Amino acid sequence: MDSAGKFSSYLTESIVKGLCRMYSFVRAKDIGLSVLGRPLTVLTIGDGPRRVFVNAAHHANEWITSLVLLRFAAEYGAAIDKGGRIFDADARALFSSTTLHLLPLVNPDGVDLVNERITDVSVLAKARRIASRYPDIPFPDGWKANIRGVDLNLQYPAGWEMARANKAEIGIVDPAPRDFVGPCALSEPESIALYNYTLENNFDMTLSYHTQGKVIYWKYLDIDVKNALETAMAFKNVSGYEVEDVPYASGFAGYKDWFIWHFRRPGFTIEAGEGVSPLPLEQFDEIYENNLGILVRALQA
Ligand SMILES: [Zn+2]
Repeated sequence: MDSAGKFSSYLTESIVKGLCRMYSFVRAKDIGLSVLGRPLTVLTIGDGPRRVFVNAAHHANEWITSLVLLRFAAEYGAAIDKGGRIFDADARALFSSTTLHLLPLVNPDGVDLVNERITDVSVLAKARRIASRYPDIPFPDGWKANIRGVDLNLQYPAGWEMARANKAEIGIVDPAPRDFVGPCALSEPESIALYNYTLENNFDMTLSYHTQGKVIYWKYLDIDVKNALETAMAFKNVSGYEVEDVPYASGFAGYKDWFIWHFRRPGFTIEAGEGVSPLPLEQFDEIYENNLGILVRALQA
């Protein structure tokens, strides 16, 4: 943690730089910039033909999952370096079978807002104005959206109109701390960056990290994806998390929905931990232990 004792996009940036300095085989690439110009940095580890994309923190107050991915990158890097094991696998064997693309922070501005790291007074005032229309949602702790009040996991072109209708039904038709789908699909620089990067890289599998519920979602509509349920069950076996169908009201326009719809390949949402987001750091070790096996299985599957 930094001097304020809090997580931020700045801390992410320095950890990413440190990992690249420490391990020559860890590469970093900026795939876009947030609304406020913060980098969206993907780490790649591995040189295998299989391509797996893992992202975290579409939702601002779910940033504990960013730490999970950063710690995984550090432990995986160390295991590759030493020729050791990670979870129950040979790290160098994973490295040569699979190329891992890791985006620890999809929503840097939102995460900085939740952690009180936004210093621009006018940006902060704007977010407060948006939040003041939703007095039942704590500010900034209840904030999930990007800095403009768009929910980044309701931005993808897979049932976006359905998501808009579902959220209009609960009264969300404008920028809000959560649940606003945006003026159109892919209106935000963060979702556009993920969309383009995914199309360019043609991944075999994607995992999107959220909190909370200890649940694995693996389906979009009734699209039949080869091995998706089997892989979800393998994740369950190593984590103890449940495998479930997505509730209808939140079943559209998410990253995994679009990935499944577009590629017909396995895409998962992992809801890590339990409680009220942001989850307390006291849960971090348990969350990491639960998800270490999932990440290794994703590299193997
Ligand atoms: Zn979420």
